[in-house]
Amino acid sequence: MSDCLFCRIVAGDVPATIVRDSARTLAFRDIAPQAPTHVLVIPKEHYDDLPALTATDLDLAAQLLHDAHRVAAAEGLVETGYRLVINTGRDAGQTVPHVHVHVLGGRALGRLG
Ligand code: 5GP
Repeated sequence: MSDCLFCRIVAGDVPATIVRDSARTLAFRDIAPQAPTHVLVIPKEHYDDLPALTATDLDLAAQLLHDAHRVAAAEGLVETGYRLVINTGRDAGQTVPHVHVHVLGGRALGRLG
């Protein structure tokens, strides 16, 4: 989708600091990091949100989670721990309608809620 910000990052039309590039997913640093490590992992194909992805391609959804863990490992977060977040819809505060996993770590993140 040419008007989708993250599709434009996949296409190389918008610059991003890429930390992992696999056949079906891309991981890049968040432009406004909320933790010392804050990476977004996305499918290269466009899906608006998690339910759109899981309804169509569960293999890709699993790949997305697996690659999020690989990013955390590459960032040195496995021993201390990390958080994966997938904001879905308005109440969760999803601002970019291209499904993405936030990988957060490098500090104590506190409890949810
Ligand atoms: P959401 O709020 O949809 O769960 O997360 C969207 C994330 O995308 C936010 O954390 C925001 O900082 C990040 N973001 C927005 N625009 C850009 C951009 O142009 N480049 C990068 N790398 N991240 C962005």
